[in-house]
Amino acid sequence: MEEVTCEICGSAEYDVLLNKLWLCEKHNWSKDRIILFYNNVPVNYRNVCCKQCGLVYINPRMTDEETIEFYKRQYREEFTAGKKNESWKLPFTNLHLGIEIYNAVVRYDFLERLGYLREGINTLDIGSSLGALPAYLKAKGCNAYGVEISQFSEYTKDLFGVDTIFKMTFEDFQTDMKFDIITICDALEHFSHPQKVLLKIRYMLKDDGIVLIEVPDIFKPHKALLGFFSNAHLFTFSPNSIRNLLNITGFEVLQFEYGGYCMNMRVIAKKSEAKKMQFKDDFPAIVDFVLRYHKCYSALEEYKRGSLSYESAMAVINETIPEYSVIKFLEALRLIDKGDIAGGKRLLFECLQSDFNEENLCVQKGNIYGLLAIASFNNGDMENAKQFMEKAYELLPRFYDFPYLEELERKGFFDFRGFVFETYLSYIGLSEVREILKKQQSRYNVKNMRKKTGR
Ligand SMILES: [Zn+2]
Repeated sequence: MEEVTCEICGSAEYDVLLNKLWLCEKHNWSKDRIILFYNNVPVNYRNVCCKQCGLVYINPRMTDEETIEFYKRQYREEFTAGKKNESWKLPFTNLHLGIEIYNAVVRYDFLERLGYLREGINTLDIGSSLGALPAYLKAKGCNAYGVEISQFSEYTKDLFGVDTIFKMTFEDFQTDMKFDIITICDALEHFSHPQKVLLKIRYMLKDDGIVLIEVPDIFKPHKALLGFFSNAHLFTFSPNSIRNLLNITGFEVLQFEYGGYCMNMRVIAKKSEAKKMQFKDDFPAIVDFVLRYHKCYSALEEYKRGSLSYESAMAVINETIPEYSVIKFLEALRLIDKGDIAGGKRLLFECLQSDFNEENLCVQKGNIYGLLAIASFNNGDMENAKQFMEKAYELLPRFYDFPYLEELERKGFFDFRGFVFETYLSYIGLSEVREILKKQQSRYNVKNMRKKTGR
């Protein structure tokens, strides 16, 4: 372990924002959560916040060599989305592969929407994991490459038939090739030296090339804080700190929005002159936010356990983060299940006003429109069902366009239906509504889409 200074401004002055081991002990959360051990001693994962520029980082942390060793195997053994299932003879879960496909589809759609994709361009995905994005880009005619240090890199060929993934660290990756697009999604926060990573990306980009970066935003955790402040995230950025980092490494931000399964910050930048750091003073806002978010999330947990009523939970939300809509969403589903379609629809409409989504797909806009379509249909309101259905299909990721979907299911690598049920995504119910509307049959009840599959 080693003590480090701020990656962006170099300052050694910080305050401790959150001490993970202390949190585990205090709330007894360690039972089903991972605590990293260092030489058999549980390590205090302190997230500190730079007093100078507001960057949040883990300090002290593993040395660079220890970090690389950690990623070679341990990381993927411990951090895979979803519970491992013994009957699933693969090192990743169905949920994990589904999320990777989901992310590949929305990232592809995003790059296409902004007009960056053309046949024959060179693309590089840093931290390509199972390789769904490079595979998608390759199927669309790009010269797509990936770099991935973990054992997941070995599965890209089996899954997608793509053999242009380099199993090594990005630091070790050398090529004379220049890239039109470099993507680094859910990855920059894992590197010990993001500044060096961005400088290397800058060097590897063509003059008119772009980089797509996705990183979590400290102001939009979308899950329990303990999970959000991952031991593996050496940095937790804010909109200001990611801009600072891009400015000092010679990039200009072209596009900033939120997207992907975890609704992370999604930034497109191009090369420009290096500039001075612009933003400071994030620290008080971050501390204030983290405390308020923890209150909201605790209210959600208590509501789910049944120890807090909907009204009391919403009272907490309204006085801490009014735009936090997850409890409202769950209550809407409960009302619809109970047969109170009008009440459920009213709450779903209120959820649409908020962009403070939970990481679970269930609270994202396309899905809410999907649920409104299903509820309207089951209520006999065909006109609205049609309208909501069209909106839902516009906003949901274009899953069915993913070129490998059928092949993955045929080979037994992926169970799309299982993934949809597991994530409460409304695709299947919505597809049923569409088929039935096409045939103009009105008397039909679309099954409860939240029912889990047997798997
Ligand atoms: Zn700093």
